[in-house]
Amino acid sequence: MPIWQDYLDKANAYHGHICGGQILGIRMALLGLRLLGLEPQLQPQPDYRDLVIYLESDRCVADAAYVVTGVTIGRRRVKLHNYGKTAMSFLDLKSGQAYRISVTDHERPDKSQDLVAFWANKKDQDIFRVQKVNIQLKPGEEPGPPSKVALCQKCGDEVMDHRDVQVAGQTLCRACAEGSYYEALVEIKL
Ligand SMILES: [Zn+2]
Ligand SMILES: [Zn+2]
Repeated sequence: MPIWQDYLDKANAYHGHICGGQILGIRMALLGLRLLGLEPQLQPQPDYRDLVIYLESDRCVADAAYVVTGVTIGRRRVKLHNYGKTAMSFLDLKSGQAYRISVTDHERPDKSQDLVAFWANKKDQDIFRVQKVNIQLKPGEEPGPPSKVALCQKCGDEVMDHRDVQVAGQTLCRACAEGSYYEALVEIKL
């Protein structure tokens, strides 16, 4: 059974510093595992295979969730819904159970206080709200090979996982249909 300091060390190495987000994120992820009946282990476990984490921000806590669970976005086990909240949900695909954990304590340590000691004095029930929630994966969100691959009729890019949209009888990617984060300037010949 790993100890608290092991997680702090791992978070420090992966995230680059120990911050409130690491401490809260480690505690949220440990609590999430326990709620789902999964044993916290320092190395990612085979029985975390069915674990999906929904992040509600892309800030420090996101790295802490990885440090505790080893669950990664590239394995389709991390979903980002950026509400700008220090909150995350833990879904077990095998049992269908899910819990959402959010931070309800708005007190933060001032610069003179020791960060680790500050949070160590607070119990989980003092800082977190836990909700049992229902989460249904949408078509194309499941781990595993893409269940659909389409071709955008405007840009020609391949669109996986039901992310294509139909506009006036055309199959388009979202970038072409809704506007994109980038502005294409010139095509570079390789
Ligand atoms: Zn941080
Ligand atoms: Zn397109």
